[in-house]
Amino acid sequence: MHLSELKLRLFRNLGVQELSFPEEGVAIVGPNAQGKSNLLEAIYYLEIFRSFRGSKPQNLVAFGEDVFRVEGSIESGEGGKLATQIVAAYETSSRRRRITINGDQPARVGDAIGHLAAVVFSPADVGIIDAGPSARRRYLDVLLSLNREGYLGSLQTYKHILAQRNASLRSSADMMAVRAWDDSLARSASEIMIARADWVKERSGDFRRYYEMISGKISASMSYVSKVAIEDWNREQVYSKCLQVLEESWSRDIFRKNTSQGPHLDELLLTLQEGRTLGEIREIGSGGQRRTAALALRLIEGDTILGSRGVQPILLLDDAFAELDDGRRERVLSLMDQDRFGQVIMTAPKESDVQIHGENLYQWGIRDGKIYA
Ligand code: ATP
Ligand code: MG
Repeated sequence: MHLSELKLRLFRNLGVQELSFPEEGVAIVGPNAQGKSNLLEAIYYLEIFRSFRGSKPQNLVAFGEDVFRVEGSIESGEGGKLATQIVAAYETSSRRRRITINGDQPARVGDAIGHLAAVVFSPADVGIIDAGPSARRRYLDVLLSLNREGYLGSLQTYKHILAQRNASLRSSADMMAVRAWDDSLARSASEIMIARADWVKERSGDFRRYYEMISGKISASMSYVSKVAIEDWNREQVYSKCLQVLEESWSRDIFRKNTSQGPHLDELLLTLQEGRTLGEIREIGSGGQRRTAALALRLIEGDTILGSRGVQPILLLDDAFAELDDGRRERVLSLMDQDRFGQVIMTAPKESDVQIHGENLYQWGIRDGKIYA
């Protein structure tokens, strides 16, 4: 898959411009604060219609303006025969987002996301490792929403019912009112947990392998720790266990006025290993080790897209090697080279940072949001 055309209108500092991207990709070089990350943010917006940097939509609109619009054409299949046009716009005054795919407005978010397939590598990714468990749940939720049929629906249902149950817990101490939610909460909880557990099982070996290959020495492991302890991952067993823990905890939940059990409290545990578990990466890892774990998570994200959507994702590299030593940098680049990704759109403040991989890539410059060849 590759992005062929991008039309920008008042997205951050990028002004009004139209860009045609070479199929192999491009390296964009420019000093700090010119709009390099903004450009990758605009491209990735067309995949999930949110900022990969977690910015609120109103902050994506150019200062002093009301509406931004991003339009992208992607081509896939043999010789780029399948073309998809994705248009997204956001209006601050009405707080409305408008999305069209090939001219049609998708009925649900689930139908809008994932037409573009890309993976962003950004220095901010280390936040997935450093921050609390919710950052790693968000990583899992975005990834599974894009790559597992039905996951987004289950997640939306779960969040909706959880909010209702918590409202009941706050407003009444009526056991029946609270427990009325438990069955459907347990059902959607079990779907989420099973999808998470399956994916972690499927990809934990690769996470370890990539980590070892990049670090060259110490190892790391990824495991799924669900709040609701499960012994048997059979679908019905997980559901009945979720229902059971909800029933057991309702009196405590009423006292605390929130739901104390469920996948909204799960953890994707990442640990350093050296023959034994040394500890959580976020607690004992060095800067480079934490960056390495974040890179390994992005690499398995790329593999997941290739495995489930059957396309080589676009590689969006935002100054991704900033903190890596030369050895690690070269090993990451060789991992990225193995036909895992399609088009490469990379940014860096210095020309020397794109040289290794950038030899066969076109190079563009950027000043004050304006991109030039
Ligand atoms: P670095 O190399 O430091 O990462 P960059 O080229 O990636 O720099 P960006 O993060 O893309 O820089 O930001 C470029 C500029 O865009 C910054 O000066 C920022 O303040 C500005 N900017 C951010 N949001 C908006 C907005 N909504 N409207 C206009 N400009 C914005
Ligand atoms: Mg940047």
